[in-house]
Amino acid sequence: MLNILFAGNPTLWPNYEPALKTAFADAGLEFELSDSCDDPAIVDYIVFSPAGPIKDFSPFVRTKAVLNLWAGVESVVGNKTLTQPLTRMVDPGLREGMVEWVTGHVLRHHLGMDVHIHGQDGVWREGKVPPLARDRCVGILGLGELGAASGQALAGLNFDVAGWSRSQKSIEGIKCFSGEEGLRDVMARSEILVLLLPLTPETTNVLNSETLALMPKGTVIINPGRGPMIDDAALLNALNNGQISHATLDVFRVEPLPVDDPYWAHPNVTVTPHIAAETRVTSSARMVAENVRRAEANEPLMNVVDRSAGY
Ligand code: NAP
Repeated sequence: MLNILFAGNPTLWPNYEPALKTAFADAGLEFELSDSCDDPAIVDYIVFSPAGPIKDFSPFVRTKAVLNLWAGVESVVGNKTLTQPLTRMVDPGLREGMVEWVTGHVLRHHLGMDVHIHGQDGVWREGKVPPLARDRCVGILGLGELGAASGQALAGLNFDVAGWSRSQKSIEGIKCFSGEEGLRDVMARSEILVLLLPLTPETTNVLNSETLALMPKGTVIINPGRGPMIDDAALLNALNNGQISHATLDVFRVEPLPVDDPYWAHPNVTVTPHIAAETRVTSSARMVAENVRRAEANEPLMNVVDRSAGY
């Protein structure tokens, strides 16, 4: 009998309890699932999110894996007490949600939809017709689960897509770049830039005054990645001088974004409240169960976090 502890945000328990029970049973596991534990020493697996109760993993001496419910692991990967294998969430539902969000926001800016959505005032605006997607360069920083899928969806609409990753990739429909020079190449060609990197020391402030200046004048920034990847003062400056025409931001250094933050009032910023893509309960429960099944069968875990890389 496996002891599995749900140590996520307590508000998630009512939804995750039945979904996890079904997924563990379907995976053929014998288990006790609980959202509390009197004795950490008997816990075999931890289903984890950073807003949950565990800050110190050292009493969990028997735990074979910590299974993070979210894709990003920046707030747990540096925890010195965490010696157990850590996996992150790769969830088909999350990926689909991100593809839809990114595609929707890219199309909004590509088609210039705001002019007509906000212009219902009796004026017949013969605005300029947007170029075809094939003539619009979109850049994606990060070509992992979410960046590659979003890039491929955009390529499927004929956008001219270039992407940047740490290791050199080869992905159908995407011009792939890596390294510092590759970053400069992607920045220099992108009229719309999407940030889908994980937050690590290397990606913090990747968008700064220097890299923003490399972009074509009037570029649009779309950030569903993590807030600290953008130097906020540099972005606001670039928005004010027209180097960047619009920023659609889903993630921020401080969340919820404080009411007096200049992003709220900026006419060329769209704030969304960290809703780009949510881990979906049913599909993510199946991913968690599959990892437990694998560990019990002595098969390699999926989506293990590389502690040295930080993601
Ligand atoms: P992933 O599969 O780990 O992919 C990360 C990508 O970034 C990889 O292509 C990786 O390169 C690249 N990368 C990492 N460090 C780099 C560096 N220093 N230089 C260049 N490229 C670098 O992650 P994912 O599942 O796609 O998720 C990406 C991020 O999205 C998450 O970490 C999370 O912060 C964010 N997210 C946001 C939401 C939301 O609702 N807003 C929801 C889910 C996730 P390699 O391929 O070479 O490793």
